[in-house]
Amino acid sequence: MMLTSAEADWLRRIALRSSKHSPTTADFYSGSAGQAWFIDRVGLALGVPELHEEAQKKATLTLELLHRLPESHAPGYYLGAAGALATLAQLQGPSPRSAIFREIIATWCRQFPRWIANLEGDDLFVGWAGLLIAIDGMSRYLPPQKLEKQDSIMVDWLTREIPERGIRANGLGLAHGSAGVAYGLKRFSRRVRWSTGLQLARYLEKSVDQAFRVRYSGWCGEELKNLSLESWCNGAAGIILARRNTRSRFQERVQLNLIIRKLTTRVLSPEIGFDPHYCHGIAGFHEAWLSLDPSAKNAWNPMHFTTNYRPGLLLGTEGLAYHLLRIRGLAPTILTGIGHSFS
Ligand SMILES: [Zn+2]
Repeated sequence: MMLTSAEADWLRRIALRSSKHSPTTADFYSGSAGQAWFIDRVGLALGVPELHEEAQKKATLTLELLHRLPESHAPGYYLGAAGALATLAQLQGPSPRSAIFREIIATWCRQFPRWIANLEGDDLFVGWAGLLIAIDGMSRYLPPQKLEKQDSIMVDWLTREIPERGIRANGLGLAHGSAGVAYGLKRFSRRVRWSTGLQLARYLEKSVDQAFRVRYSGWCGEELKNLSLESWCNGAAGIILARRNTRSRFQERVQLNLIIRKLTTRVLSPEIGFDPHYCHGIAGFHEAWLSLDPSAKNAWNPMHFTTNYRPGLLLGTEGLAYHLLRIRGLAPTILTGIGHSFS
């Protein structure tokens, strides 16, 4: 679908503003890797090669930040070094040969053992499920022997650690919760054809179904006190995106669809005054609704929500602008990780 000239202007303005802002963190969530992805995608959509150059500068900045503070970077996807590097690799095109690409691969291979030694959390945000998604994103770029080695290290680690530690996710959502852990495990296990991992992912999905049933039993659209708890990062909107990406069954599908439709309609109403951003704001709910009903794209225009520039892909103005690309069919979703997906 075509962008109007006002929309194209708005996108270009935000991408240029973003290229001038230097974040202090490297992550995809609100740091330089997310900015790089955003600026590059706007450049592609508008046919502006200079924005690709700006995105590459952000990639260089991301590598610098990862080198400067290697200890402070968790291994996960959205807030972690692994997600940041997987993002940068995908910016380099289908068969990259550049110096920066070699640096990305070298940094990944250098940091990987440290991530394995320090895997604390389980979620997509900072934990092992996020690392699984990031490896998926890297799988077409890593040399085959390296990839095979890292895949088998992950399988060994999960086989050893999960029975010891159990699964420690916070709530039901995709970024922090068990829907995200099941999702990461399922994507990885399908790619490497690991049947125990697949069984575990199905078991986790069932436990999400169960917890969902308890949480929403008898709910038919009355007030929910804290809408953020139903969002992509923490709740129902995340479940729907995870299951659709892996084309997995959800036992409570009818109830979940009802909830997403009702919640999105509520957060879209101006009197609620809900924050428009992606993570636990309107854009995240709208993305979940779009996955159920593509005609919902006309129900909201993120361009109408710009006020002051606020940096960050998942929390800021970049995310709002990115969502306009989503609505126009010009970019892939960022809420299930970028890169490989099962379709
Ligand atoms: Zn959030």
